[in-house]
Amino acid sequence: MLGLMQDQPLAISSLIEFAARHHHDGQIVSRRVEGDIHRYTYREAAARSRQVAAALDRLGLAFSERVATLAWNGYRHFELYFGIAGSGRVVHTLNPRLAPEQLVWIANHAEDRVIAFDLSFLLLIKAVWRQCPTVKHWIALCEPGALPSDSGIDGLQSYEAWIAGQSDTYAWPVFDEKSAAILCYTSGTTGNPKGALYSHRSTLLHAWAVALPDAISLSARDSILPVVPMFHVNAWGIPFAAAMTGARLVFPGAALDGKSVYELLESERVTMAAGVPTVWLMLLNHVKQNGLKFTHMRRTLIGGSACPPAMIKSFRDDYDVTVLHGWGMTEMSPVGTVCNLKLAQLALEPDAQLAILAKQGRALFGVEMRIVGPDGRELPWDGQASGDLHVRGPWIVSGYFRGEGGDPLVDGWFPTGDVASIDADGFLQITDRSKDVIKSGGEWISSIDIENVAVAHPAVAMAACIALPHPKWGERPLLVVVKKPGAEVSRDDLLHFYTGKVAQWQVPDDVVFVETIPLGATGKMQKNKLREQFKGHRLPG
Ligand code: ADP
Repeated sequence: MLGLMQDQPLAISSLIEFAARHHHDGQIVSRRVEGDIHRYTYREAAARSRQVAAALDRLGLAFSERVATLAWNGYRHFELYFGIAGSGRVVHTLNPRLAPEQLVWIANHAEDRVIAFDLSFLLLIKAVWRQCPTVKHWIALCEPGALPSDSGIDGLQSYEAWIAGQSDTYAWPVFDEKSAAILCYTSGTTGNPKGALYSHRSTLLHAWAVALPDAISLSARDSILPVVPMFHVNAWGIPFAAAMTGARLVFPGAALDGKSVYELLESERVTMAAGVPTVWLMLLNHVKQNGLKFTHMRRTLIGGSACPPAMIKSFRDDYDVTVLHGWGMTEMSPVGTVCNLKLAQLALEPDAQLAILAKQGRALFGVEMRIVGPDGRELPWDGQASGDLHVRGPWIVSGYFRGEGGDPLVDGWFPTGDVASIDADGFLQITDRSKDVIKSGGEWISSIDIENVAVAHPAVAMAACIALPHPKWGERPLLVVVKKPGAEVSRDDLLHFYTGKVAQWQVPDDVVFVETIPLGATGKMQKNKLREQFKGHRLPG
């Protein structure tokens, strides 16, 4: 016997319609690439999303055809998300931090029909547009007056001219909730990038789970600033979760330096922000150097790479801001876990709480996890055993776009490529990416643990720990360090700093100081580049 409940497909268009109806005057604030601050409401965003949908119909785009965006976080990008997906096409977010040849490869693989881009990427588009034969329409996210007349790009038009005159009473089509909605390619550090193809259903379920109290607890009383880009993994689903809850949205545009982000946090009374540790480092430095405080911000979601405990502690003890450490990946839409304490843990001492908050947190409802050993057997959740982390759930990939890379699943589970432990309370702790873990004399050293100690040193801005080949031990750790401006610390001081913090055999064999550590397109340290750079480095002893 079936239940007697209405069979309504979950649709991305319903999010913006809900926001327009229930939070019609809810604000969306954007720092535009033009430099000024733009403000409007969910009602206006919905109307313009409908105009985007109508404009796409006008272009004659078929169901499921790909419409790409190459843009910062801003209101036009937000409208495109809903207009494209809501009308049954697929939003393909292109990451402008990728090399031009990678962008071309991805646009061709996705067979994009339209690319909508911020004018700040005009030079990039000029360099690549001829190599994207499937793209028939180029749309610059600007007023007609700002459109360069001599761009040489065939079919270029301004976004505002493109949607002007389109009806804003568009009726959203109804279709299968499993239809493709959004396409996002993995960064492809090994092999070609692979496309994770999210559906309407997966996107809504993910947004629902992300908004829950034990995830980021988003509500109509929040003002949220996603520094995490909409051009990669949908800014962790925040635009959708915000529309679902009516939270005020504050988009930072291209200005991601500490000063600009801080100004917006204050002027827009932001209660919650989300970003990767490298961006938050810039913010914290700015706030510290200028003796500032956060007037409104009470919590921040940090993930994408391990958030050092020193950062979590500083946010808590110096600024009264709770860090929600999250973990996930492109293949998981992207959020898998978020760290929030349980009731019994509220009675613990601050240091004991910090030890828990430094973990990557508990699975959202909908995400199943398991850790397995080398023999494929499941390992216990005791906080000690660490193994390959597998996940499954309704917003986790079952395969990649156009079958790239074959079937990724093992017995129905997706192997994340991360090594982790899980404690009896279900808190996940990522030891490492399996390719970054350091295998020394049959034991594993977590590069994350070693880095966390280094960045707790007051003179260290950033640290990466990589494996170097070693004749006796197989591999040994090398620590690569960027010092804070004007700060001094010697190799020996830093190695001494490890005493009592990790086992003696885990202390790095050597330290090298560098000006910068290369970051990838999603703000992660590129350890493969460091391994290449230091492959000839001779470890002492
Ligand atoms: P994204 O594209 O969202 O940056 P990727 O798929 O490129 O994600 O990378 C996901 C990987 O990033 C994870 O498999 C994990 O290795 C790493 N990662 C993400 N969040 C964390 C975290 N909080 N702690 C440690 N590693 C993390």
